[in-house]
Amino acid sequence: MTFAAIVVAAGTASRAGGNKQWRSLGGKPVLRWSVEALLAAGAEDVVVVVAAGAGSAAADALSGLEGWRTATGADSRAGSVRNGLEALGGPDDRPVLVHDAARPFLDRAVIERVLAGLDGADGALPALPVADSLRLGDGGFVSGAVERDGLWRAQTPQAFRYRRLVEACAAWTETTGPADEATAVERAGGRVRLVDGDARLMKLTYPEDFAMAETMIARRTRVGQGFDAHRWGPGSSVWLCGIEIPHDQTLIGHSDADAGLHALTDAILGAMGDGDIGDHFPPTDPQWKGASSDRFLTHAVERLAARGGRLVNVDVTLICERPKVKPHRQAMRERLADLLSLPLDAVSVKATTTEAMGFTGRGEGLAAQALATVELPG
Ligand code: MG
Repeated sequence: MTFAAIVVAAGTASRAGGNKQWRSLGGKPVLRWSVEALLAAGAEDVVVVVAAGAGSAAADALSGLEGWRTATGADSRAGSVRNGLEALGGPDDRPVLVHDAARPFLDRAVIERVLAGLDGADGALPALPVADSLRLGDGGFVSGAVERDGLWRAQTPQAFRYRRLVEACAAWTETTGPADEATAVERAGGRVRLVDGDARLMKLTYPEDFAMAETMIARRTRVGQGFDAHRWGPGSSVWLCGIEIPHDQTLIGHSDADAGLHALTDAILGAMGDGDIGDHFPPTDPQWKGASSDRFLTHAVERLAARGGRLVNVDVTLICERPKVKPHRQAMRERLADLLSLPLDAVSVKATTTEAMGFTGRGEGLAAQALATVELPG
């Protein structure tokens, strides 16, 4: 069934602490989740209603998607929807879905249910039965109970025929409300069908809702590994895992030659399939000469965050005869935990020798190996 959609993203959302529709959730803006779902389900025209001046924010949030445009919101939700309907236009019998941008986990099955629910009805409303018992409160104490039988929690997207919704919105003359479009259609005498909602269609209302929403995103676990080696040369200290250790030699390299951080950076990039440290920080580029390798590591972590990913744990092994790593191991772990925003027990630094064999055993150089486990959305 062909249909159009209006996504209401004009709210100021003060309860969620800012403009939540632009916030990142699982690596993409909240608004984008809904628009992608509507387009994937076959919406032929999507009008995103945004606050005046927010057009470029919408363009950023929806870059690369086709089949959407914006309309400017009004002071009230009702006004915003009216503007969206005006931008959309007919035909009169075209199904129109009205959806809150603050409900990102829109599933194709819900879209299909509300469209099917329009058959023989003036509207279709996804809703969930109330499971908790309900109380009235007064001054912090219970003052009564409310019978929950027959009560439903209304969600979006709500489906209507275009003309029916335009007329119902026009007929709403109260200065406040309606809370949603189904209310307007009911008030105008329409019959709105209840269809099964979806618990995942939670509305992001309070700041803590974002933390819960992040946990609801399906993630894949990926592992990456990294290896690095640098040659010993004259010097008085060496950088290893972000810690400067006094030593009678130093490691030679274009940057600070911190092989531990380089191996770890490659492990994180590897887990994302995002190239290697040399791709992101070419040794031919003079700006990285003598650079602190902290920057390489934090760059990899930022790229992971931009994809909506998160680190689970890291494990680094330093391979050398000297200096002794053990006295510095705790400081290295604490430094890495700080750089990576990980708890200490998710950060391991180990050391080994190669029993005087090979280039590390002969003291020609130091090697480092690292593993990183990450979780990525999808
Ligand atoms: Mg290196």
